[in-house]
Amino acid sequence: MHELDPANLVRSGEGEYVAAPNGLQIVGCDQYPDHGNTKPEAGSQWLLTDLRAGLDTGLQCLSGLGPMGRLHPYHEYQAHRLMRLFEDREPKTLRCVKDAMFATAVATSPKGVATDDPLYRVLRQVGHPGIVIDTYRVAGILSRQYDDQTYRDFFHLAEAQIIEHRYGQPLRPANLHRYQDRASLLFHETVHWLGHEHSAIYPDVTSLYEACCFGGSDYITDPAINRAHAETACAILKDDTLWSNAYHPYRQMRIWHLKGYDRFKARMRADFDP
Ligand SMILES: [Zn+2]
Repeated sequence: MHELDPANLVRSGEGEYVAAPNGLQIVGCDQYPDHGNTKPEAGSQWLLTDLRAGLDTGLQCLSGLGPMGRLHPYHEYQAHRLMRLFEDREPKTLRCVKDAMFATAVATSPKGVATDDPLYRVLRQVGHPGIVIDTYRVAGILSRQYDDQTYRDFFHLAEAQIIEHRYGQPLRPANLHRYQDRASLLFHETVHWLGHEHSAIYPDVTSLYEACCFGGSDYITDPAINRAHAETACAILKDDTLWSNAYHPYRQMRIWHLKGYDRFKARMRADFDP
């Protein structure tokens, strides 16, 4: 992934950079990741650095060369597909938005976006393959979209604070999550490019890859708890019976359920920091 070197970034327009030579476009990311940049190109450089780190760790892990050991060959094939996608010159877009959605990041799918998808409005700003990142959510900045009542009752802000938040410096309350492992976040989004969607009924490879390859969840601080969830995720990714049936969705769905793997995400969520 040497072509994703921040040194290869070229300015292509107002707030737009291209990672030459592979045509990865970065748009509007001047304030990635935490609204603390002073140079206009800094955000795109950070983003590219995080993406490259995510791909390095993620692809190595899926190929069975990471510290978590060999996974089922099905995942090696997913790594291969993702690598092909990045080698391809087809344009790929990473776009940043500021306080425009509830999600931290979303990715397009080769299946397209349904118009009733709550994220349709942001996702249509990028073609496939594309990722939209909300720097307010990454940085843990309180949204400016709520009404005064919500700020008073929910966030316990005084009138002067509400005015400052709306028109001055937006607040970053300590209890709003600030994304730590951004490499993991970006890798997660690129996995969606392969057509893998979140599901409770079918194996959720995107979530499993994140948990196994990136050491648990960004929403859990305790290292021992994170390690346990990562090990569970990797064990699922090594299950021969489950992944040998990857092309038999019905059979695979039954195994996923019978082995109790469908409870993995809920268990991990139960361990999220308060
Ligand atoms: Zn996702």
